[in-house]
Amino acid sequence: NKPLLEIKNLKKYFPIKKGLFNKTAHYLKAVDNVSFTINKGETLGLVGESGCGKTTCGRTIIKLYEPTDGQIIYDGVDIAKFSDKQMLEYRKKMQMIFQDPYASLDPRMTVGDIIGEAIDIHKLMGPKEREERIQYLLNRVGLNSEHASRYPHEFSGGQRQRIGIARALAVQPEFIICDEPISALDVSIQAQVVNMLEDLQADLGLTYLFIAHDLSMVKHISNRVGVMYLGKLVELAESNELYTKPLHPYTQALLSAIPIPDPDESAKKKRIVLEGEIPSPIDPPPGCRFKNRCRYAKPICSEQEPVFKDVGGGHFVACHLY
Ligand code: SF4
Repeated sequence: NKPLLEIKNLKKYFPIKKGLFNKTAHYLKAVDNVSFTINKGETLGLVGESGCGKTTCGRTIIKLYEPTDGQIIYDGVDIAKFSDKQMLEYRKKMQMIFQDPYASLDPRMTVGDIIGEAIDIHKLMGPKEREERIQYLLNRVGLNSEHASRYPHEFSGGQRQRIGIARALAVQPEFIICDEPISALDVSIQAQVVNMLEDLQADLGLTYLFIAHDLSMVKHISNRVGVMYLGKLVELAESNELYTKPLHPYTQALLSAIPIPDPDESAKKKRIVLEGEIPSPIDPPPGCRFKNRCRYAKPICSEQEPVFKDVGGGHFVACHLY
């Protein structure tokens, strides 16, 4: 399968203001040398605790943030070499579904205008076609055409997320970043939204980067899953492989926290409790960033940063144990 996106050594650093007396520049290294590919038509899950850099990574790929360094290669072409016209086209092909369906919809706009906004920005069609497209999209996400004239506050959280999905689909994207799209929703609604995203992917040939803070949320939707810790990608593998044979001690701890419905299995599984604080992402310490919470840490872990490497069959891990 051909990669639609290749992310090579991506960095996104945010400068921190220098103090009055301290003239040294400091950086919050939100994404620090991250590399992965996303194949056409697949869903790549990206998981990690809040502040690990997963959302910044998504926003940098979609060009909401300028990368500090590294390459984003789309369909074989480095986007840094894009002309203005190509960049406009890239922005159209890349859309995002946001975590908070309450904050991400402008309360002063009608649902129709929210969905139609991107069509207007890209000057894609005339008023009649635009109206038909909005009605089609509302139906496509399980809402009614009449909802176009209503306002976001008239809808539930799940319905608002459907509106957010219709908005993302308005300009016929190829790639969608789903940024924790179900975390804020009621558990009973989460499965409906995930099923809908899967149906849309199958029908429209979409490619997803599905960001979540816990591994259980991406298990069913992802073909492959990547785990981030403090700005670094620490493990990436096919879903089944990652869930059955996690290699990185951090992934093992995350997986051990997922409850198992079968009580017999549950008894066999030991929860790994992580001790120690996550270090600050501002000027993080050398070596492995997980070392202060890792039960297998050895001297080399403080001295050398582990390389993110393929240990066989597309299973990548950054850890001195391998
Ligand atoms: Fe633990 Fe060392 Fe592996 Fe880091 S590199 S996860 S500290 S064993």
